[in-house]
Formats: sequence, structure tokens, C-alpha cells
Amino acid sequence: MVSEEELLRRWERTVERLFREGVIRSEAVRRAFLKYPRYLFVQKRHWDYAHVDEPLPIPAGQTISAPHMVAIMLELAELRPGMNVLEVGTGSGWNAALIAELVKTDVYTIERIPELVEFARRNLEKAGVENVHVIPGDGTRGFPPKAPYDRIIVTAGAPKVPEPLLEQLNPGGRLIIPVGGYHLWQDLYVVEKTEGGRIKKKRWGGVAFVPLIGEHGWRE
Ligand code: SAM
Repeated sequence: MVSEEELLRRWERTVERLFREGVIRSEAVRRAFLKYPRYLFVQKRHWDYAHVDEPLPIPAGQTISAPHMVAIMLELAELRPGMNVLEVGTGSGWNAALIAELVKTDVYTIERIPELVEFARRNLEKAGVENVHVIPGDGTRGFPPKAPYDRIIVTAGAPKVPEPLLEQLNPGGRLIIPVGGYHLWQDLYVVEKTEGGRIKKKRWGGVAFVPLIGEHGWRE
């Protein structure tokens, strides 16, 4: 088993490479990545691979995304301190920890699989993250109690943009979401709600996520 010092060194090299390559573009995202190394959010048997820029398995047949994908979505979201953010698809809790570090306030994240709700809560506690609230449920319905949101980040692939997420977005707010096939490729979209309430969609490019399953997503 590699030492935690070695895991950290490897992680720092991954972060610096993503920064050099322009995938991580902001100091804020770079600092958040350095603060929360990915190995803290995967099972011990995957620690050796936590620095590799690929998705990794987490319990219940789900995945923690590749570091470059997480960086791309966080940079597209342009998170700023004080923003009210909802994440759909908690998984390991890693992305939620990074979001919380960037907005420096409470973050709400929804997960449909109870085993992962517990997994994420344990990971977040171990990592010392206190301002992430993991909510069990169907994130395609959003989370009305804390709406409206400045940003909504969906980390699973949807067949279409769920209407409740658009409704729960603030004017001037932004939704980052993969839309496309079940298990196949999706397109990553940046969806903006203008101050006047109009919806504008921009396609970023091709991505591959596990399916978003729920009332306004894929059916089980
Ligand atoms: N953001 C996660 C992380 O940092 O580890 C990775 C998310 S993983 C690629 C996608 C997650 O979305 C899975 O944990 C899956 O169970 C969850 N999911 C799928 N449909 C969902 C829904 N309707 N509501 C909430 N979570 C959902």
C-alpha cells in the first residue's frame, strides 16, 4: 500500500498537469483540487489509481468522474463565494466538497442511491467538510426548499433538461448538465437563465456519464 505522502505527491502532479494544460484555468479551482485530493473520496482499494485522469468505480455500480471532467464543469460554472449551489448526483461527495470550497457557504447535493448517501457523508466527514448537505432523493425534481439556485450542476446524463431544474434557477443563473444517450455519449450543456427569464443553451462538447434516473430523467 502506498503512503499518503506518496498519494499526495501523485495528486499534486496531476493537478499541476491539468493546470499547465489549461483544463484547470483558475487559481480558485486549482486550490480547491489541492485541498481535496481525489483519493479521500474513493475506497482504499482504488487509492493507487486516484491520481489517474480517468473515472473510477464507487459503490452501487456508479463512478467518480475523471479529474479533467470535474475541472471542466467547475470552470464552466464560474462559481463565486456566496453562490447558492445545488448538485444533482452526489456519488462520492468529491465534487460537492470542491463546490463548497469555491462558494464558501452551504451546498446542497442530492443522491438517489441510499448506499451512496452514506458513502458520501462518510467521505465528507473524513475530509473535514462541514458545509455540504447530502440529501437522499430524486434530483431531477430539484430541491425546492433551498431554491432558487445561482448554479445547478448535474453529474449524470439526462435525456433532456429537467423542467424543475430550470424553474429552480435564479435569473442570471447557470445550469451545467450532460444531455443525450443512456450509457452512451451525451453533450455537456451550459444552460443560462437570462435576467429576463429566457433560457439560452450552449453546447460544450461530448462527455460520458452514468444515467440520470428519475421522474424527469431516465426511467429505471
Ligand atoms: N458528483 C459525483 C462525485 O463527485 O463523485 C459523481 C457522480 S456519478 C458520475 C452520478 C451520480 O448520480 C450517481 O451516484 C447516481 O446514483 C446519481 N444519480 C443518478 N440519477 C439521480 C437522480 N435522479 N437524483 C440524484 N442522483 C442521481
